[in-house]
Amino acid sequence: MRSNHVDVWVLGTAQDAGIPQLGCSCTHCAAARRDPLHERIGASLAVVDRMEGRFWLVDASPHIGRQLDGLRSQFADVEFSGLLLTHAHIGHYLGLAFLGREALNSCLLPVWCTPRMAAFLKHNQPWRQLVSLENIEIHEVSPGNPIPLSEHVTALPISVPHRDELSDTVAWRLRGAEASLVYCPDIDAWEGEILHWIRECDIALLDGTFFTSDELPTRDRREIPHPPIEDAVERLDTLGTIIRFIHFNHSNRLLGDPEALTWLQKKEFDISHRGDRWRLA
Ligand SMILES: [Zn+2]
Ligand SMILES: [Zn+2]
Repeated sequence: MRSNHVDVWVLGTAQDAGIPQLGCSCTHCAAARRDPLHERIGASLAVVDRMEGRFWLVDASPHIGRQLDGLRSQFADVEFSGLLLTHAHIGHYLGLAFLGREALNSCLLPVWCTPRMAAFLKHNQPWRQLVSLENIEIHEVSPGNPIPLSEHVTALPISVPHRDELSDTVAWRLRGAEASLVYCPDIDAWEGEILHWIRECDIALLDGTFFTSDELPTRDRREIPHPPIEDAVERLDTLGTIIRFIHFNHSNRLLGDPEALTWLQKKEFDISHRGDRWRLA
């Protein structure tokens, strides 16, 4: 018998490239190569409605195969029922490629995304082929308008400011009868409408790409303006929601520095881990 719950599961917690990062031999990447316990795969969530026997993914990470296998090992009898996308950076949509005929060969799998993200997928190969071969069926969503995933859970896209060379970006709020969760893995600054939704939800999984602003001395910060966790903690402290950071770059000090993690936890924030789970209904 199925249990009567809707849960959100964390399937991965790393920035787009994962940890270890290709071509990098920093201490965090070296540790992850030595010991899978230190490995982190691309940020992604599953929403599992066991009342209806269905699940949805939020973002299609490059590690989607392992993520779906992991989910299947927990739930043999739930049907993959669609995908919600945040934006067109590699960690968030490359996994769509594995829905095609070389791999899963899905049939009209619903994909919800903004009109700009939809245009990107419809007009560029190999994504265009997923549409023409009917592996996926794109549903355009307008930020601010919730969509029902099932009788028990709705998904609301929320516009957020983020590098928009290929698409715009949304966060997603997932809401069930018992709780709601905001997922915002990429953002350029903690400002605007998203603050309202973080305050309003029970749990928020937020962009924790960098711990400090000086982690990547060789890159121009204007190219990668994620708000560092050090600053985010001050900015988000007053919002009164349980906050877990996600989407860690391999350089993030929190991954290998117990003092930094203790500092974060004393402030009543924490980092997320693959397998974290919250009940929505
Ligand atoms: Zn990202
Ligand atoms: Zn991004």
